[in-house]
Amino acid sequence: MNYNSTRNNNTVVSASQAIAQGISAEGGLFVPQSLPQYTAEDIKALTKTDYRGRAKKIFSDFLGDFTAEEISESVDAAYTAEKFGSDNPAPISYIESGDTKMSVLELWHGPTCAFKDMALQILPHLLTKSVKKTFAGKEAVILVATSGDTGKAALEGFKDVEGTKIMVFYPVNGVSPMQKRQMATQQGNNVSVVAIEGNFDDAQTGVKKIFTDAEIKDKLAENNMMFSSANSINWGRLLPQVVYYFSAYCDMVNEGKIAMGDPINVVVPTGNFGNILASYYAMRMGLPIKKFICASNANNVLTDFIQTGTYDKQRTFYTTISPSMDILVSSNLERLLYHLTDGNAEKVAGWMKELSENGKYTVDDDVKAKLDELFYGGFCDDENTQKTISEMYREENYLCDTHTAVAVNVYQQYVAETKDTTPAVIASTASPYKFARSVLEAVSDEALPEDEFAMVDALSAVTKTTVPAPLAMLKDAKVRFTLECKKEEMPQTVLSSLSIG
Ligand SMILES: *Cc1c(COP(=O)(O)O)cnc(C)c1O
Repeated sequence: MNYNSTRNNNTVVSASQAIAQGISAEGGLFVPQSLPQYTAEDIKALTKTDYRGRAKKIFSDFLGDFTAEEISESVDAAYTAEKFGSDNPAPISYIESGDTKMSVLELWHGPTCAFKDMALQILPHLLTKSVKKTFAGKEAVILVATSGDTGKAALEGFKDVEGTKIMVFYPVNGVSPMQKRQMATQQGNNVSVVAIEGNFDDAQTGVKKIFTDAEIKDKLAENNMMFSSANSINWGRLLPQVVYYFSAYCDMVNEGKIAMGDPINVVVPTGNFGNILASYYAMRMGLPIKKFICASNANNVLTDFIQTGTYDKQRTFYTTISPSMDILVSSNLERLLYHLTDGNAEKVAGWMKELSENGKYTVDDDVKAKLDELFYGGFCDDENTQKTISEMYREENYLCDTHTAVAVNVYQQYVAETKDTTPAVIASTASPYKFARSVLEAVSDEALPEDEFAMVDALSAVTKTTVPAPLAMLKDAKVRFTLECKKEEMPQTVLSSLSIG
């Protein structure tokens, strides 16, 4: 199977080239030329195996130029009980409330306590193998822009991986204290972390610019290096996410929650549109998903887009208590547009040009009709996010983080509006302990302690739940990275850190 660019159908690359390169030269994203089709029989076969077995099957259908051994090796190294706490890295908690059935798919049992681990524990394996196949001998320089969780998960995935260097940029005031500490204390000899003055979009735009800057690229080439990406623009980030939607469905069938063939809805707290797009791919491959419920925080650019067909990034940027969704330019939407136009790269390129030049674009009636059929968009502000955390805890005895609460709240809006009670998979994207302050505030009436780690301990005491070990450890970890730079200085910072300019 080969891949096209969303902005040029004449660009055709192999899976390994798509993963090694990250982004296409003209700025488009790589998309599969066709999708494997799974019948009910095929899905039934997946119910008979475990998460790793499901991952191997799905990976083998997409990674045309990987051998079965390479896929096995990667999957077995990534999804271990040691890293994810059990043999099922993505377990489900079932919550039945009134006439709604929520299957909360917990994607945060990995080493950094956020769902990004689901992809970033395997990406380094796929990426180093991809580089060997297509750019043998080159060192991969991974540049990451992060709104908090990607950065840490990427650092943890790539630390000390031979043949790679990783550099993470995060918005100085746009991540939680816990996220900041996780990154600033990162171990590893090939890692660096830089805070930039600006928001996530500034970081992401800066990184995209460096990727496509010919001069910088040449400089890297002279030094036998190449850029790659660990952001969800990389196909190697998206593919692992397709797996957990199939796996959740299989688990629900096995646990008698649904029958094989029954439809489900999915609810995803959305930022860069990677997670929800993965569920769309699962549907296009044959998983019976009826509706995609796209949940946003106060940065509700996607809600408006789904409701009106106009994407308009010219609006106030809010810093919220669900910082991993504080995004106004949602990169992976481009891939959805490509598929909804049946692969019309010219049209997609035109809209993306309008977005970068005028700050907005409007899709045509045909795409809007498809959006209406498949997607529901809603949003939830900080106050209602905390109200939802409190209700979930007090009424359902379920402790969820701020991002998951946004999803639950928007799902409740959806059910109230549509009366559609199809069983719903809610993507739960982070451990509540990652956002201890906001979660504690929601579930406790006591005055908040001042220190972040005191809040973590208080949350544990109040809710009688255990602090995840990787977060508990941070208290005594040594800070290694304190560098800050302006967004204009990003290119120079990259070159200096690589000692090539
Ligand atoms: C990254 C992230 C999201 C958003 O996911 P996208 O794939 O970018 O839409 C939501 N919640 C958490 C906790 C995250 O880390």
